[in-house]
Amino acid sequence: MPEPLLFEISSEGRKGYSLPPMDVPEKNARSLLPEALIRNRKARLPEVSELDVMRHFIHLSVLNYHVDKALYPLGSCTMKYNPKINETLSRLPGFMNLHPFQERDGLPGALKLMGELACYLAEISGMDTVTLQPAAGAHGEMTGIKIMRAYHEKKGNPRRKIILPDSAHGTNPASAAISGYETVQIRSTEEGLVDLDDLSAHLDEDVAGFMLTNPNTLGLFEKQVVEIAKRVHDVDALLYMDGANLNALLGLCRPGDMGFDIVHMNLHKTFSTPHGGGGPGSGPVGVKNRLSGFLPVPVISCRGPDVSLNWDFPETIGKIHGFYGNFGVMVRAYVYIRMLGPEGLRRVSENAILNANYLMRRLEKDFILPHPQHHMHEFVLSGDRQKENGVRTLDMAKRLLDEGFHAPTVYFPLIVHEALMIEPTETESRETLDAFADAMLTIAGEATRDPQKIKSAPRTTPVSRLDEALAARNPDVRYSFESP
Ligand SMILES: *Cc1c(COP(=O)(O)O)cnc(C)c1O
Repeated sequence: MPEPLLFEISSEGRKGYSLPPMDVPEKNARSLLPEALIRNRKARLPEVSELDVMRHFIHLSVLNYHVDKALYPLGSCTMKYNPKINETLSRLPGFMNLHPFQERDGLPGALKLMGELACYLAEISGMDTVTLQPAAGAHGEMTGIKIMRAYHEKKGNPRRKIILPDSAHGTNPASAAISGYETVQIRSTEEGLVDLDDLSAHLDEDVAGFMLTNPNTLGLFEKQVVEIAKRVHDVDALLYMDGANLNALLGLCRPGDMGFDIVHMNLHKTFSTPHGGGGPGSGPVGVKNRLSGFLPVPVISCRGPDVSLNWDFPETIGKIHGFYGNFGVMVRAYVYIRMLGPEGLRRVSENAILNANYLMRRLEKDFILPHPQHHMHEFVLSGDRQKENGVRTLDMAKRLLDEGFHAPTVYFPLIVHEALMIEPTETESRETLDAFADAMLTIAGEATRDPQKIKSAPRTTPVSRLDEALAARNPDVRYSFESP
């Protein structure tokens, strides 16, 4: 490994702290614990100085790839740059040191922030009430489907099926299945949109709802959404919107106005929380009035001057997260929305769309673009032409690393062969987009001239080609003190 482990640079007796001498005799300290619990040899912890630790983590941070280093065009994930001021504000002691068990008197500021945030999100999405409890997009989906179930159960029959298009994000069928529903997949048209005939063929009184992503995972706006909503509502099913990628719609149009009954939003994608390392996220869910009674409790009301926590929801699906949700993520989202305001939010989406379409037009001659129409915040290329020379999408993704860029999302959505799903995001400049386009065109050229160069990439990264299947299925993450 290019960076040794802290265990490997450990040096006996080296310390990164200084404490005053112990003022309790060691013998007495030992007598406080049962003998069986006391170590008889030193804990095997690395013994390192503060400087050792600092350098170790700085080295690791530059070995890794992150959005502070360069473009991260991972489609569907919205790996945009988040203003650092939002980090600073979310760490203000008044926010950071709050405890959810604290007396309510100490919380009015936090409650007000949450109440107003819920209101802003309701306004942005066109929904009536929003819960901030879900901790991620997939968690929001599960919450939304539980609300669907509660709605149908109240009418006497929870129904059995949920319909999804074949372009759906993998979390959609997973959330439906985990909530006890059978999933039914429908086709997309040549144009990359929901096939209305196939939808109608599957809609009946046993369908609880239809889960749709708009713009869909091809980056295309589902322009028939109003007709879709009508057909779904005709069988009293509910229309669910996966709004993970709201950075395509801010201030331009609202899921609530398109006929959606339930929507989840990913604060950690669109609203300024960095993500990708598995840290806390937030997937608020907005619903229309007729579903508000089913929301998880407590519901934070945002109407009127006084924010209140409302537990009096007899039909609630219950609680789906401890306390109120992931507060730190909410603070960032609140600051982000307040700083940008309605005009700024609209520009976010306009720039996301402009950037994606600009990049798409620069790449369309050298790669297959299966859906050549105007796109929203992302687009999907196919690597089929390069594959004729034995170069697969995976190879091109690796080769991009040598050019200094993170790879796009690959092999998703499943309906595009050798898919390369590119989302430049709104935060990138024209110069950066051009540099990325140039790298992609270089690779397209190499695919005919020098395919081997692509297939042996990456060469400049800390580790070269990994066996990804083995790494995922048989991870070995334990350090062994015994030398191999
Ligand atoms: C990211 C994403 C999700 C899942 O969100 P998580 O927070 O990762 O659970 C769902 N749908 C789409 C379209 C997404 O891009």
